Amino acid sequence: MTDVHLSLDYKAGTNSKFLCRMFKGDVSKIGDYSCDSNVDIVKSGIEAMSSIKGDADFILHSGDFGEHFALSHTSTLESGVQIQAYLDQFFPETPIIFSIGNHEVWPLQSQRPNDPQFKGIADAVSSIFTNEEYAAFVKNAYYSKVIGGLRILSLNTALYYGMNPEAAFLFGDPGGQFAWIASELDLAEQLGQKVLIVGHVPPGFGYSLPDRLWPMLNDKLVNSLELPEERKGLIVGCFWGHEHRDSLRIGETVAHWIAPALTTWKDRNPGVRLYEFDDNDYSILSYKQYSMDLKKALETQEYTWDLLYTSQEVGLTTLNQDQAKKRIERIFSDQEEWDQFVYLENGGADHEPISDYHKLRLFCGMQFLKVTDYIKCKFNQEEEQEEY
Ligand SMILES: [Zn+2]
Repeated sequence: MTDVHLSLDYKAGTNSKFLCRMFKGDVSKIGDYSCDSNVDIVKSGIEAMSSIKGDADFILHSGDFGEHFALSHTSTLESGVQIQAYLDQFFPETPIIFSIGNHEVWPLQSQRPNDPQFKGIADAVSSIFTNEEYAAFVKNAYYSKVIGGLRILSLNTALYYGMNPEAAFLFGDPGGQFAWIASELDLAEQLGQKVLIVGHVPPGFGYSLPDRLWPMLNDKLVNSLELPEERKGLIVGCFWGHEHRDSLRIGETVAHWIAPALTTWKDRNPGVRLYEFDDNDYSILSYKQYSMDLKKALETQEYTWDLLYTSQEVGLTTLNQDQAKKRIERIFSDQEEWDQFVYLENGGADHEPISDYHKLRLFCGMQFLKVTDYIKCKFNQEEEQEEY
């Protein structure tokens, strides 16, 4: 689950800019596409997760628990506490890995290495941590957790976020995270473990150009997750949120899976995702994407979390870089696959059509994570289009 954006102030029938991002009036008790999640949506989403797979091996909670326009850091942290309470209620025994988002901090997006506010964020979800994990999170909001033979690295990529004003002054290895990733990869290899990467803001580019990591830090992150041939397969996959869209990207050796948000958002339905992995080698085999059709819920006054599609149904026989690459090629070579992709990336909600310009951005963004590669791709594609 990711991007829960719980608004504890959500009240039906009110019209306050503090309750809804788009200043919409007369919001329904059920929810609204232009508002953050209310408690009922969040509770029903987490409850749905427990009925879908109550005995999951672990849960990835990849950030943005606070509302978009929180009035104070206290209000953001209260959202985190409430979400954690539901997780503790429905998954009392399940290990949970949390990653910090750009909406956990205050003022919005703003954080720097060794930020004192990391402690409040760690405290909001403290029941998930061992003492050692808690101490690591308080320091720089990244940590690792070992589950069986899998070493899960929860990264703080919101630190590198393009809209984090502090990140403009960050050079080298802010918070020592790149060096830490390298040492964790070495350690995993020595111990015969596999590595799973989870974080909030993915590297690379989506539809919106300002919505990305600072270029130098982006490329460093991409490099730190690419491994030479002899280490192929050490990283089983990278798992992100932030986009509020169902998407994927590829590096040269690793696949990046972007799960849709649990919150309501513009023209998109809330979703939760279940990944399946191989017990022996921890390779990621498939996922099932569940979605709550808010339009239907507004009619029936009831939330239902239905299976929207499975990764196999979109031709992914397993979830590695090679399969992700082929999926991306199909999306951009077949109009039907593109239309289906756009439908699914919005969780099956009615949505605005995607312009050719934005489609081109996505074509390059999904395949080229590094800044110069992405710019080259866009330049080449634009030239090609002009020839016609
Ligand atoms: Zn978000």
